[in-house]
Amino acid sequence: MSQSLPSLEALNALPRVQQPSYPDPQVTAEVINQLRRLPPLVFAGECDDLRAHLGAVANREAFLLQGGDCAETFAGVNAANIKGKLRVLLSMAVVMTYAGQLPVVKVGRIAGQYAKPRSKDTETRRGLTLPSYRGDAVNGFEFTAEAREHDPKRLVGVYNASAATLNLVRAFATGGFADLRGIHAWNADFVRNSNVEARYEALASEIERALVFMMACGVEDDQLSTVDFYASHEALLLDYEHAMTRVDSRSQLLYDCSGHLLWIGERTRQIDGAHVEFLRHVRNPLGVKLGPTTTGEEAVAIADALDPDHEPGRLTFITRMGSKAVRTNLPRVIEAVEATGRKVVWSCDPMHGNTFEADNGYKTRSFADVCDEVNGFFDVHEELGTWPGGVHIELTGDDVTECLGGIDKLAEADLTNRYETACDPRLNRNQSLELAFMVAERLAD
Ligand code: PEP
Ligand code: MN
Repeated sequence: MSQSLPSLEALNALPRVQQPSYPDPQVTAEVINQLRRLPPLVFAGECDDLRAHLGAVANREAFLLQGGDCAETFAGVNAANIKGKLRVLLSMAVVMTYAGQLPVVKVGRIAGQYAKPRSKDTETRRGLTLPSYRGDAVNGFEFTAEAREHDPKRLVGVYNASAATLNLVRAFATGGFADLRGIHAWNADFVRNSNVEARYEALASEIERALVFMMACGVEDDQLSTVDFYASHEALLLDYEHAMTRVDSRSQLLYDCSGHLLWIGERTRQIDGAHVEFLRHVRNPLGVKLGPTTTGEEAVAIADALDPDHEPGRLTFITRMGSKAVRTNLPRVIEAVEATGRKVVWSCDPMHGNTFEADNGYKTRSFADVCDEVNGFFDVHEELGTWPGGVHIELTGDDVTECLGGIDKLAEADLTNRYETACDPRLNRNQSLELAFMVAERLAD
């Protein structure tokens, strides 16, 4: 890894896609300079800790749970929303830890997930064509010319929203909320009317009994009352990510201090492109999404660029092949990368290869397809003797109706009830827990 960061101008001279087009370069430059002066949002040592935890995942000693919104919104920066997401992620992690009997590394798509790549630059409604919504980092969701204009000042909004979110996440992670002895309370606000609820309650009671036993034996450990929780997002906007990069005073190495783990999306992972070139230079643990058309050679070229030292934990390949292609296309990618001798984390994103438009126009996913891809992912790894290291899920703590199926058997007609996502459809709380139980069963096999 090189120590000197390419200038933003040098990055911008490389092939680059999915970037905003700001109207006034002067204003953009001022915003970037402002961001460069602001304190880091995360610290180099925390990024190193996460890389070490992911190293354990790469070495088959742990499992990765990464999840959160497709797109966070500025309006969603409030206590209830953040708490809800944390609660569902912690509940899922507990289910997986207990059944799988191994540590679960917890990473949110949170505190920075504000920019979205889009397949189309524009959107047309009733004869009016406007720029697509690219996340609150770039423009507004509202379908008006004014809202959809790209505004660099929103990047300061991203910084502030991320700082406020991280502050609360840190407080929840260490301030008592995440105490395992409160495991029943994480569920308290939800109606307990489903099988999945009953199953969770039974598991929580079992864990509670084990904890009481441990305490009676005199075991008291901080590990039971706090959690390590990390923040991640797609490193999409080069202006923002470059401006948030700092030299660590301890090691003199570069870290992108906008989040602990940064990933490169399926649309921006070109080997000669600006995103790969930029992230090559930072020490954070990195993720790369791999879609169904990925070849073994492509994956190896990306790994060579981002993980030249074969460092377990440095690179997480997040495969999102779709429920059909996972069984046919994933094996060749795994085999090619494993043949290089390096250990990467293999994580399954069962969301992005399974999106479709329902008859009533809603963008949705079927819970059955999601489960099918996860099962395919486990089967493929089982056949190859490799480690299915983790899952990457779009979810929310709320009882939204965005994905079909699951324990509540959501149908297309139900999508209208609570369809609240700013971008892709998310699993609701019950669907997330149900998936956690399924993953736990596969881990326990
Ligand atoms: C996402 O994670 O929201 C996303 C856009 O994913 P992908 O790059 O895999 O399409
Ligand atoms: Mn998405």
